[in-house]
Amino acid sequence: MKRIMVTGALGQIGCDLVAKLRQIYGEEAVLATDIRQIHHETVQSGPFRTLDVTDNTAFYEAAREHKADTIIHLAALLSAKAESDPALAWHLNMGGLLSGLETARALSCQFFTPSSIAAFGSDTPKNSTPQDTLQRPLTMYGVSKVAGELLCDYYYHKYGVDTRGLRFPGLISHSAPPGGGTTDYAVDMYGSAISSGSYTSYINKGTYLDMMYMPDAIQAVITLMEADPSKLKHRNAFNVSAMSVDPEAIATNIRRHIPEFTLDYDVDPIRQAIANEWPDSIDATAAREEWGFDVQYDLNHMTDDMVSKLMVKLQADQSKIS
Ligand code: NAD
Repeated sequence: MKRIMVTGALGQIGCDLVAKLRQIYGEEAVLATDIRQIHHETVQSGPFRTLDVTDNTAFYEAAREHKADTIIHLAALLSAKAESDPALAWHLNMGGLLSGLETARALSCQFFTPSSIAAFGSDTPKNSTPQDTLQRPLTMYGVSKVAGELLCDYYYHKYGVDTRGLRFPGLISHSAPPGGGTTDYAVDMYGSAISSGSYTSYINKGTYLDMMYMPDAIQAVITLMEADPSKLKHRNAFNVSAMSVDPEAIATNIRRHIPEFTLDYDVDPIRQAIANEWPDSIDATAAREEWGFDVQYDLNHMTDDMVSKLMVKLQADQSKIS
């Protein structure tokens, strides 16, 4: 990776990823793009361009003008939002991916796009879900992610495009808000614990899902993209995870810092049904063996960091008001 273009760069992953990529590869080397433009560090700290990824000509032109050798394609509609507008989800998730893959083919770029634990379904083994297994999701988000994994495989086998990808679990971070996924509750819980000392979860207790802290997710993208291609047997859609947790486990952990924190439930049937389809815990052995996947943060370490970062943010916001 030398000259990188990122789509959906103002989202939860993009904001942190662009900052890290600019730190490693240089500010001018990383073009951030998104359909919207907001007042944000990602827009100010290096090249930025508005781009609708479903416009394949504009996608190609942006990559060509930047002289990109790598495309990191993040723009997508996430699980809960996709269920409320399945046609838009298909149009964006598949149309945007096709624009990206065609651009990568035309310009000989390396190509990364994330899949998700949503690519599994209720028939998939729930515990220690294998890398290669049954994938029959019933959500539009899941359908688009399985189709996306297959399309990336196709471009590799048919055209030799260097496609790579990860099946991300729920990602927890503090710098940008999550974009409408099912695991957003975990991010929201940390924020509410700091600001109000209580949280009402839309996901029920006992619902275990894989999660990972954003710095580990970012490092996983970079390590995979820099990995020796001859070692990659799977290329696209590697299972990766750092922990399997339910809302109670996170709340108990937060109470190490905020003992009076209270957690209630008001379960949202739509997001709960999505979560019920997903594995309790996935097996990341292939990622470890093929390119050395590893994580730095377990639940304790992540909670310590989230709480301290959010406390600093809250204090800064309060001092701006007063
Ligand atoms: P997000 O919703 O936070 O950000 C998506 C960004 O895409 C937004 O900034 C949005 O403005 C932009 N966008 C929307 N429509 C666009 C268009 N037509 N053209 C260009 N940009 C457009 O999403 P995220 O959490 O950063 O996720 C990025 C990728 O990672 C997605 O493919 C998602 O499926 C995958 N993923 C995320 C998670 C997670 O927990 N965040 C987990 C698994 C997989």
